[in-house]
Amino acid sequence: MDKGWRFKNNERTYLDKVLSGGFGSGDSGTFVTQLEALFAEKHGQKYAIGCNSGTSTLHAALEAFGVGPGDEVIIPSLTVAMCGFVILQCGATPVYADVKEDTFLMDAADVEKKITEKTKAIMPVHMYGLMCDMDEIMDVANRHGLYVLEDCAQCFLAHDRKGRISGTIGHAGSWSFENSKHMSSGDGGILTTDDAILSDHMRKFAWLGYKNITESTSNNRLDKAMYQSPTWKRHSINSYNYRLPELCAAVALAQLENLDKFCELRHMMGTGYERVIKENKFDILVPQKTPKGYKNSYYTFAATFEGEKYGIEWHEFREKYMSYGGDGIFGALQLVGNEPCFKYNKIGWGITPTASKLQQKLMLFTTNQPDEKEIQVQMDCLDKTIKHFKVTV
Ligand SMILES: *Cc1c(COP(=O)(O)O)cnc(C)c1O
Repeated sequence: MDKGWRFKNNERTYLDKVLSGGFGSGDSGTFVTQLEALFAEKHGQKYAIGCNSGTSTLHAALEAFGVGPGDEVIIPSLTVAMCGFVILQCGATPVYADVKEDTFLMDAADVEKKITEKTKAIMPVHMYGLMCDMDEIMDVANRHGLYVLEDCAQCFLAHDRKGRISGTIGHAGSWSFENSKHMSSGDGGILTTDDAILSDHMRKFAWLGYKNITESTSNNRLDKAMYQSPTWKRHSINSYNYRLPELCAAVALAQLENLDKFCELRHMMGTGYERVIKENKFDILVPQKTPKGYKNSYYTFAATFEGEKYGIEWHEFREKYMSYGGDGIFGALQLVGNEPCFKYNKIGWGITPTASKLQQKLMLFTTNQPDEKEIQVQMDCLDKTIKHFKVTV
């Protein structure tokens, strides 16, 4: 397979422009600006801020919310460790909410149970490509006066039953351009918001705290005479260098121009797996439930493996699938609080029985195939695997 299939449009042209333009000679970077403008427009949001990862974005957003020592931030326990890391980096404590049995996503009812007087923010994570029920989460957040940060690293251009795009409902949305995501610049990330004050703070925090960075631009060298003067004081806040490199922004812009196509391919693949399972009328796999009216963007196709009740083991199923030429099946990541860095140091709290159960049963299938032919290969593998075990019970 051609490993570079996703990077065959404007990527090389734009990269060349960055180099021939000498990185914009120290300007804020034209590709960053263009990427931010197009990403914001596509999401109907006022502001977008390019960052160097989908972890630094989360950190910048929590900082802008004012999350600090003594505060608590609620995340689902079934997510990536990075969601917990950024809370620690703010000096705050992660609190784990349980997920729903059918959608595998953050359960607003459990979030509400985990709220204390220290809670400052809620971070719903749209896992595997499907949006959480944002009406329920915003209702809890509004009643308790909490900030909401949507982690959309795995969820591009999905929508809910009201047609609202992922990342546009909470106070801020965050995406990653790491290589496994819907669009990639190797590494990179972006934030969106409609709030000028949050945008100003996130941008300053992620771009070295230059005081004349504003909500809508990172270009802090507009007035040369002022900027070059020895009397000019530059930094208004202590911050990080989370800048999105111009080379990455060039690739990300070219990727964004093709994002709809990438999402359509993943959608075709996700719905394909679902069809194969349904047609076999054998409940060895139960797919993540996409509620009516929602569009799942299928970062991965997630299903619980129910073979144990027929005496079939998780690894046995995976090995058979691989032997037919299947691309791979990932298990779920450890619950955040079970990762050694949290567990050994006893950081964070919250019991999440449904997430614990799902973590052991989940199977995650790849959805990043270049064309219908490759998609069909994987469909056939799954079909053969299910049929193999169907006849043995
Ligand atoms: C990938 C991912 C991140 C982190 O993104 P990076 O760009 O790798 O830092 C955060 N949250 C979720 C849900 C992810 O899948």
